[in-house]
Amino acid sequence: MVTTLKNFTLPITGTRPLAEAIVTAGGISLKEVNPKTLGSKLFTNLFIAGEVLDINGYTGGYNLQAAFSSGYVAGENAGLLAEGKE
Ligand SMILES: Cc1cc2nc3c(=O)[nH]c(=O)nc-3n(C[C@H](O)[C@H](O)[C@H](O)COP(=O)(O)OP(=O)(O)OC[C@H]3O[C@@H](n4cnc5c(N)ncnc54)[C@H](O)[C@@H]3O)c2cc1C
Repeated sequence: MVTTLKNFTLPITGTRPLAEAIVTAGGISLKEVNPKTLGSKLFTNLFIAGEVLDINGYTGGYNLQAAFSSGYVAGENAGLLAEGKE
């Protein structure tokens, strides 16, 4: 039984269509973003949050949490910059 379980394979035969995708990988590289403010290192006055960043997690709330948290940080810092406090 152990041998059978250890040798059990599930060949991947394809992927589901993009229309059914839950999260996308790729986007703006984290190297181009200040991790404390989520401001772009390339463009002043540009703050980046959510799925446009090159981050993706397993389903189960991680992607929503990333979107909420990064949105909060980016919004706060965009506001501070607009008020001249950053
Ligand atoms: C079917 C499905 C199930 C999912 N289930 C889960 C889950 O169980 N757990 C989890 O953690 N994540 C889940 N996700 C992923 C999660 O929903 C996303 O990662 C998250 O919503 C991304 O948030 P966001 O704000 O970056 O982008 P979005 O929520 O995509 O928001 C982008 C917004 O920008 C708007 N927009 C686009 N272009 C323009 C424009 N030119 N001008 C103005 N507005 C524009 C869009 O209309 C949209 O409202 C799921 C996604 C899908 C599709």
